Amino acid sequence: MNVFSKATARLMGATALLALSSLSATAQTYPNKAITLVVPFAAGGPTDLVARLLGATMTRSLGQPVVVENRAGAGGTVATNYIAKAAPDGYTFLIHHNGMATAPSLYRKLPFNPLTDFEYVSQVIDVPMTLIGRKDLPPNDFKELVAYLRANGNKINLAHAGLGAVSHLCSVLFRQAIGVELTTIPFSGTGPAMNALLGGQVDLMCDQTTGTTPQIKAGNVKLYGVTTSARLKTMPEAPTLAEQGLTGFQMVVWHGVYAPKGTPKVALDRFGAALTAALKDPSVVTKLNELGSVIPPDDKLTPAGLQTWLQQETQRYAPVIKAAGQFAD
Ligand code: ASP
Repeated sequence: MNVFSKATARLMGATALLALSSLSATAQTYPNKAITLVVPFAAGGPTDLVARLLGATMTRSLGQPVVVENRAGAGGTVATNYIAKAAPDGYTFLIHHNGMATAPSLYRKLPFNPLTDFEYVSQVIDVPMTLIGRKDLPPNDFKELVAYLRANGNKINLAHAGLGAVSHLCSVLFRQAIGVELTTIPFSGTGPAMNALLGGQVDLMCDQTTGTTPQIKAGNVKLYGVTTSARLKTMPEAPTLAEQGLTGFQMVVWHGVYAPKGTPKVALDRFGAALTAALKDPSVVTKLNELGSVIPPDDKLTPAGLQTWLQQETQRYAPVIKAAGQFAD
């Protein structure tokens, strides 16, 4: 062995040792730096709100900051693609909603496969949606709204968060159900879309109660109905869209937490345990319940609970989206 190969061998040995020690450090000391929780929409929207609430609670239990990073674009698929390709080191996670199940049907060329390219951590929260309008939109209830849209359809602007967002899906199903074409305006998230609605730049939006409840309660927007089969405890005066004649139009937004494929099990387990604990924290539960949402049962707060649900939802949405005829490359 010459000097060069001796040095190389020593270096390789040192590298192997280093790799070994960083592996065991993961097992013993994870997390030892900040963890990024990616939100696939702009700040200020419902997904962002849930991520920040959970992130703050998890920061306390994990002893390292859980930092929310907004990576908006293409209805959530930009962030999802980012996670599919991110280093599986246990320091990058994604929170996403039904969009994970609808994207394969909506996009002809999706650069990732939600069913195979991720690690599944847990379901998170189930949230109803509301159909809301700007405060001074003339119709005062759902019946008046439908008549108004039939008369003025192409002049009405409906805001959403891009193809793949639940606000978009809700608007597609709504337009299909009432048989009216509206002008749709994509935003990077329903946080910015809400600002446009409050500012009167757009007319209508369908969004999660986690985003809309405060504005509805403050009387800043008009509420035309909720998308659940039963009325909500948080706003019992609000009729469901179903009871106002829009049958077969029920939507609950579910959320899940994902990690890049190959993320060490120790990180998945520890992050998952902190997430479950945050979802049982009384102040978190109270806050989320006040915003109309519910924490799923324990069997859904598991990797298998999320993975099985995602598979079922992917299958369920495929024919619905095909019938709605909305696709993108
Ligand atoms: N509510 C959004 C959606 O329509 C996204 C967001 O949280 O901004 O999917």
